[in-house]
Amino acid sequence: MQLVFDNISIDPLTVWSRKAVEASVLRLDKIHPVVSGNKWFKLRYYLKEAKELRCKKIITFGGAWSNHIVATAAACKMNDIPVAGIIRGEKPTSLSPTLKQAEGYGMELHFISRDDYGEKRIPLSLQSDENYLIPEGGFGQKGAAGAASILDGVIGNYTHYCCAVGTGTMMAGLINTVSAGQQVIGTAVLKNNYALNENVRSLLSNQSKEWQIIHDYHFGGYAKHKPELLRFMNEFYEQSGIPSDFVYTGKLFYAVNDLITAGFFAQGSRLLLIHSGGLQGNSSLEKGTLIF
Ligand SMILES: *Cc1c(COP(=O)(O)O)cnc(C)c1O
Repeated sequence: MQLVFDNISIDPLTVWSRKAVEASVLRLDKIHPVVSGNKWFKLRYYLKEAKELRCKKIITFGGAWSNHIVATAAACKMNDIPVAGIIRGEKPTSLSPTLKQAEGYGMELHFISRDDYGEKRIPLSLQSDENYLIPEGGFGQKGAAGAASILDGVIGNYTHYCCAVGTGTMMAGLINTVSAGQQVIGTAVLKNNYALNENVRSLLSNQSKEWQIIHDYHFGGYAKHKPELLRFMNEFYEQSGIPSDFVYTGKLFYAVNDLITAGFFAQGSRLLLIHSGGLQGNSSLEKGTLIF
């Protein structure tokens, strides 16, 4: 497996050019089909510390379709560090493609009950001072610092950076790195999770930056979808050639398109949308639902 950072491009969204704003997409999805873009960045400083501490094993939490789980598995394989994933819920009779892939990268899977998962209880067999815990979704200062490096090398006079928000780690990293006068707009993929604002705030190095989380485009909640969203994703692909995932980036593109139409962004705004990857998650949809 190889990650190809040279593949990252900034694609102008000419399909939206009739509108009064300019928009482009930062294609982190092109780094690798499975190791989705933002996860790689969020993990980098955790991995660095785990190596410096010479930890025996990395452990982390996630669900059966988690991009974070599969990205952590792949990253640990590349760095030659043993890794265990603590997975929400009973072990299913057949593993999801995500978990199969994670196992293929050498991750040990430990299934725990939803209650234990809610409490983030680490199974006894994994409790050791020599193990290194990466928080679920990479949430934390190190995750945000890694996410900030997403914009390294991105040159362009953007007025707005738009991203999907799960834990808020990526968004916090972006806020920490943008300049005064630039705004970060996040679209929450969870339903009514207003704690996200506080979570993002807790990772900020400077409280004077401008940012906003939009809570209106969750389509029913985390990993929920509606025909309208899937139709939009297919149309968006036809028009732009850019594939999206239904958990994060599909909701982001839908939201920004809608917000542009509603006049949310002032005329002349220059938007950079972060395509944070996640395409592997589409494998949970029925075949043929998406045209890409
Ligand atoms: C995990 C993920 C996100 C959310 O990132 P957070 O830092 O948790 O907010 C967004 N997009 C994709 C594709 C992801 O896999």
